[in-house]
Amino acid sequence: MTAPEIRQQFLDFFVSKGHHIVPSAPIVVKNDPTLLFTNAGMNQFKDYFLGNRAAAWKRVVDTQKCLRVSGKHNDLEEVGIDTYHHTMFEMLGNWSFGDYFKKEAIDWSWELLTEVYKIPKDRLYVTVFEGDAKENLEKDQEAYDFWKKHISEDRILMGNKKDNFWEMGDTGPCGPCSEIHVDCRPDSERALVDGKTRVNADDPQVIEIWNNVFMQFNRLKDKSLEPLPAKHVDTGMGFERLVRVLQGKNSNYDTDIFSGTIEHTEKLTGLKYGRTDSKQDVAFRVLADHIRAICFAIADGQLPSNNGAGYVIRRILRRAVRYYYSFLNRKTPLLHELVPVLAQQFATVFPELQLQVDFVTKVVFEEENNFLRTLESGIRRIEDFMGNAKQKAVDGRTAFELYDTYGFPYDLTSLIASEKGFSVDEKGFEVAMEEQKTRSRAATELDMGDWTVLDENPVSVFVGYELSETATSVTKYRKI
Ligand code: ATP
Ligand code: MG
Ligand code: MG
Ligand code: MG
Repeated sequence: MTAPEIRQQFLDFFVSKGHHIVPSAPIVVKNDPTLLFTNAGMNQFKDYFLGNRAAAWKRVVDTQKCLRVSGKHNDLEEVGIDTYHHTMFEMLGNWSFGDYFKKEAIDWSWELLTEVYKIPKDRLYVTVFEGDAKENLEKDQEAYDFWKKHISEDRILMGNKKDNFWEMGDTGPCGPCSEIHVDCRPDSERALVDGKTRVNADDPQVIEIWNNVFMQFNRLKDKSLEPLPAKHVDTGMGFERLVRVLQGKNSNYDTDIFSGTIEHTEKLTGLKYGRTDSKQDVAFRVLADHIRAICFAIADGQLPSNNGAGYVIRRILRRAVRYYYSFLNRKTPLLHELVPVLAQQFATVFPELQLQVDFVTKVVFEEENNFLRTLESGIRRIEDFMGNAKQKAVDGRTAFELYDTYGFPYDLTSLIASEKGFSVDEKGFEVAMEEQKTRSRAATELDMGDWTVLDENPVSVFVGYELSETATSVTKYRKI
């Protein structure tokens, strides 16, 4: 089964259960001060859960573009190193807004996985919230009892607050959750641990694929929980992980979701993925991952910049550039060449990228070009420093110099340093940053960083870039 077919089956299944298909919200969040980017399917429905707004449909289903690189959910460090955490990923979800609750959610997730997708039952585990005395939260006996009808009890594991009480952020809707894990190890290995239950914390081949959250509370600023006006279901299934399981692959990157960009990177670099040293493979994975985050963020209106959400995107982009520069032996812009491949692949699912493909390509190219101007000397600077250092530590001032003079985001310096076993003084970096801010307080900071909006309602005028003529909702920018 291809990835698009798998996505479609998810949507069709929930339509058959009375759900209405809604489009993904933009990956960039503009109207919620608690969030920079969409980190879960439920974000766009937050007001329904809180009771601030009435839902147009009681049951909906969708695939949501998510980004987990900041705030409560931040997976950046894992990306490329493991094979199942991405920066940007699709979260398939079904929702009940004050309609069905635990029984239907559990019955349908079981039906979909075992009868439609035909995942063998003896490869599945489920987890249930064990309760938390401090928060006065009870064990989720109800969920346990519904699962018991489908799966033997030795495959139902109790989970703590960290894994089985889902929270969107420091505040907002939350509730106990029940997750589904798939054991992808070969039979021979499974036999070795027969009778001993494993979840993905123990083995990278036992993967969490789906979370069913039973929304019942709102986490307030003072950390207390207040019950929501109604009970809701919010589920999230990692699409890339599901496809990997159904296609029988060992890695998300071996599925047809990533093969297009990986093959194109092979063509551009003359190197092969999966055949040589691991650093090179990590670089292939990082590129295939990061280009998605970059493209969809820009297509949804978040340009790279020097602050806020824009800086998150610039950091991801610079991280990717450094990976191809150092490990794929590529010294000229590469990422922008992957944009059309991705746009084509997602033309029917997320058409916003195809509609703005020329624009996004230009922005990515400019960004790469800019960073490549200082990358070489920045790398020399940090390597010289580490070569002469008496202790395995990069001081805050040097980290700040790398940031200020060479455009190295802090996390990039930290990554390069860690590859040589060095730590970085983060506090010292922040102090140096503060000092500079004080020095330049007089200078006003533009919200848009170093891009300026020329025209909110595009007409076909030339504004410094060749923009897609077919784009209908593109804001035009000029580099200043
Ligand atoms: P994990 O424990 O693997 O980090 P999670 O518990 O943080 O996942 P949830 O918040 O429960 O994830 O999100 C619902 C589903 O989204 C997960 O079950 C998983 O399939 C998928 N998912 C979560 N984070 C990522 C990611 N960074 N990349 C790809 N898929 C993800
Ligand atoms: Mg996580
Ligand atoms: Mg988890
Ligand atoms: Mg989870």
